[in-house]
Amino acid sequence: MSLSNKDRMKIPRQAMPEQDKFERRNNFSEVNLGFTEELAVLEAQRCLQCPKSTCTEGCPVGVKIKDFISLVSEKDFAGAVAKLKEDNLLPAICGRVCPQEEQCESKCVLGKKGESVAIGRLERFVADWERVNLGIRTPELKPKTGQKVAVVGSGPAGLSCAGDLIQMGHDVTVFEALHELGGVLVYGIPEFRLPKEIVRAEIESLSKLGVDFQKNSIIGLTDTVDELFANGYDAVFIAVGAGLPYFLNIPGENFNGVYSSNEFLTRVNLMKAYKFPEFDTPVFNCKDKNVAVFGGGNTAMDAVRTSKRLGAKNAYIIYRRSENELPARKEEFHHAKEEGIEFIFLSNPQEFIGDEKGWLKGVRVQKMELGEPDASGRRRPVPIANSEYVIDIDMAVVAIGNGSNPIIQNTTPDLDYNKWGNILVDKDTMKTSKEGVFAGGDIVTGGATVILAMGAGRTAANAINEYLKTKK
Ligand code: FAD
Repeated sequence: MSLSNKDRMKIPRQAMPEQDKFERRNNFSEVNLGFTEELAVLEAQRCLQCPKSTCTEGCPVGVKIKDFISLVSEKDFAGAVAKLKEDNLLPAICGRVCPQEEQCESKCVLGKKGESVAIGRLERFVADWERVNLGIRTPELKPKTGQKVAVVGSGPAGLSCAGDLIQMGHDVTVFEALHELGGVLVYGIPEFRLPKEIVRAEIESLSKLGVDFQKNSIIGLTDTVDELFANGYDAVFIAVGAGLPYFLNIPGENFNGVYSSNEFLTRVNLMKAYKFPEFDTPVFNCKDKNVAVFGGGNTAMDAVRTSKRLGAKNAYIIYRRSENELPARKEEFHHAKEEGIEFIFLSNPQEFIGDEKGWLKGVRVQKMELGEPDASGRRRPVPIANSEYVIDIDMAVVAIGNGSNPIIQNTTPDLDYNKWGNILVDKDTMKTSKEGVFAGGDIVTGGATVILAMGAGRTAANAINEYLKTKK
């Protein structure tokens, strides 16, 4: 049945089915349950199929959004996923964690007067539908070129670059420092937002295409970038992310019970600390305790919601600006509030307070007010004199961002870096100052998003392909 635009605009945006908000506080299972076929078709029917696809312009990897959505509305789910995967080999991941509200969905014409099409939810639906009904299928490969590329890091930038290069006919080896593949997708983003099984399945599809994954290989220690060339690689893509945590640099940060978000989330996500003693990497037992997470981004939301699931009595976000400046995705903020997280806005930590045995027992914070916008465009927090007070806490997680790990810089000094250690590249090609070396993702931009990292991987793959043609 063909619908008029008027009919399409009468269909409301379909809500994402979710796990009950009280139940999910006690488990690590996924919060969002995904669309049913009926909900997906209904949502897809809302798309006006605009002649100019502004939604695609908002997607860093250029997914042909209206085409795949049109196939969903016709119930051709297999066709829809094939269309989607022409541009994105990791749709189940992106459908779950991309900030669509700031990208494709922000460009949807329907969003101007009402609610945009739920593009991310549809992306997730078709990817999950394929995995459950068909198994993940792999695309055709071009004939082998005999040329070899080393990809350093298995986060979204490395995976997307590897996926594109293998399809172009090159041999690809991904070197990963950790014992698990996926970067932040597995060690940072918790199971309740992105199940590891989903990440593993999408990585498995790259293995099936022939990508060789080498775990426990730290480039800079196991081999240097120069040694990769000496070992026969024709090009190298560096996608090592931004894994070095920033700290608050306030007194008392070394008390027992103060974690970086990296350590806390890695222990819980990757090392399964919540299953201690079955798994032997515990975290502080925060059951019935007070936990404060400092920061306002996705990482802070993940850490605080994790602490709630570990049994925290009170779990606070302490953020120096207001709700309006919160950088986390709206959905994460909404879910956190539903789960009972308490938000203490306009408060800046001054000092951690500990007991005589060195255990954390509180944090002294100062109240702030908002002044003029700063370089980030957000209003600057300004301290209010004589407004300090103490909050009793037993555990703290510092989630104020990450910088670049110096290992590549220390062992590859002939690359150009900025003062924060990010690798400098030509933005159109991701080419670095060193012959045959390309870089992308958080190591170039600083902490950003999954889809931007994937976009960088894709740009680099195209440029590496061109570069390799000149080497033949
Ligand atoms: P990473 O994902 O960091 O991957 C880099 C990989 O390189 C890692 O596996 C690392 O072990 C490996 N590596 C490092 N050094 C070496 C070396 N010397 N040799 C070999 N391997 C090495 N973005 C979103 O879009 N949506 C979200 O909801 C979201 N939530 C987030 C939640 C958390 C907790 C965090 C920390 C980030 C979140 N982000 C989110 C940001 C997003 O995950 C990152 O922007 C993205 O993962 C960057 O991808 P990348 O490939 O550049 O690096």
